[in-house]
Amino acid sequence: MRWERALIWFRNDLRIHDHEPLHTAIKSVREVIPVYCVDPRHFGETSFGFPKTGSYRAQFLRESLEDLRAQLQALGSDLIIRWGKPEELLPELAEEYGAAGVFAHQEVTDEELKVEDAVEKALFSRNITLELSWGATLYHLEDLPMPIGSLPEVFTQFRKQMEKMADVRPQFPTPAQIDSPEFDDPGELPSWKQMGLEPPVKDTRSVLQFQGGESAGLQRLHQYFWEQDLLREYKETRNGLLGADYSSKFSAWLAMGCLSPRRIYDEVQRYETQVVRNKSTYWLIFELIWRDYFRFVAKKHGNTLFQIEGIRQDGWKGTVDWGLFEKWKAGETGIPFVDANMLEIKNSGFMSNRGRQNVASFLVNDLGLDWRMGAEYFESQLIDYDPCSNWGNWNYVAGVGNDPREGRYFNVISQAKRYDSQGEYVKHWLPVLTRVPRTLVHELFEASPKQLETYGVILGEGYPRPVVSLRGKAAAKR
Ligand code: FAD
Repeated sequence: MRWERALIWFRNDLRIHDHEPLHTAIKSVREVIPVYCVDPRHFGETSFGFPKTGSYRAQFLRESLEDLRAQLQALGSDLIIRWGKPEELLPELAEEYGAAGVFAHQEVTDEELKVEDAVEKALFSRNITLELSWGATLYHLEDLPMPIGSLPEVFTQFRKQMEKMADVRPQFPTPAQIDSPEFDDPGELPSWKQMGLEPPVKDTRSVLQFQGGESAGLQRLHQYFWEQDLLREYKETRNGLLGADYSSKFSAWLAMGCLSPRRIYDEVQRYETQVVRNKSTYWLIFELIWRDYFRFVAKKHGNTLFQIEGIRQDGWKGTVDWGLFEKWKAGETGIPFVDANMLEIKNSGFMSNRGRQNVASFLVNDLGLDWRMGAEYFESQLIDYDPCSNWGNWNYVAGVGNDPREGRYFNVISQAKRYDSQGEYVKHWLPVLTRVPRTLVHELFEASPKQLETYGVILGEGYPRPVVSLRGKAAAKR
């Protein structure tokens, strides 16, 4: 039976390219009604009291919605935006427009699944159908060569099986036209007041002035691959810390669904045919498989991902010490490499992968804090927050993930010396250290107070004393 009308419920899929619910709805109904519900629960607090969505991501969301609306308008439709819970708004809108069904992408983590469930129940009681599609990953769930319950606990095993036994499906075509009824009141973007936030202050030291939305995401893809030819050396540069070019910076667009991983994959294939196929082109796909893995792991392991004992469920010690935590969060630990990274996330909503691994390990292993405090702060602050990638990576670093190895200890001093050998990164975020020579900048504790004074640094005044002793750790492994 062909329905007259259906809603498209946009969630973390704010795009029109490679969008299965949109594609299927257009094929199967006469008129579609695109809707986004700004859920007030996303603007509540995490269990440790941080804003669930901080201002960098809120800004990115507003820009993404604005762009999606413009894309839909260009195709003859529009985007209805409402502030409220989807399980209350969607049935009301479906009735108002006489829609018989709702098309959407499915999610995997607890809070999103609860909403999905509530939406389904509310629609069901009004005889309205919810049609869900799988869509956030490179590989389709149905193409896993094993049942989700048998997903390998080791990434390499997963990757090898996928590469051997599964294919990436083709993208869904971008619609050329969308038929929709007239909307009396399409609604406004969420206001800062509604979200309970202030707009973020732009910091010129950020790696990139991120702009939300599909158009900006596709533009970044074009720039990274074709205009600047940066993909060619991605594997060599990906552990960098400074500037827009060392890695793709696709994560925020991927997390909000402005970019589809299959679009990136197809673009890599095109680049490999037209420019070069090398270890860097492979490595970008390798990283997207990591991203897939964390999503499938979340589907397999459910809520354990968010518990202190993590996926492994075999005990974990860590304390809640707000004094130490606040120093970590504010970038005042007295360890320049940690502090520079924490200032970066605080002032820009972004941090490199190398930085994330180090500050997470430092919180867990050197400060001995409950790793969930760090994970929740990241959830709040990151412009590219993705529940599966964030909590999966934190599980991994805290040693409670599905990796058979013990906790991943990153020696922040030797890491700093290796990845910021000239001290440029720490000086970028900590100008107070500008005059300290590179040989000392990561190990201020090796310098005498007199020596430091000549470089303009007074520990305990201009720059904090270390909150923990890492003396001698540089010589240790890693
Ligand atoms: P690139 O190096 O260009 O990689 C390309 C893409 O591959 C990324 O955009 C991302 O989608 C994916 N990717 C790369 N590394 C990883 C990884 N380790 N895990 C999962 N996907 C990966 N990534 C998020 O997208 N959201 C998060 O909330 C998040 N939280 C993290 C928390 C911790 C403690 C750690 C250690 C890592 C976290 N990551 C997260 C993964 C990674 O740090 C970011 O994806 C990456 O830094 C984003 O920069 P990029 O897009 O330039 O990455």
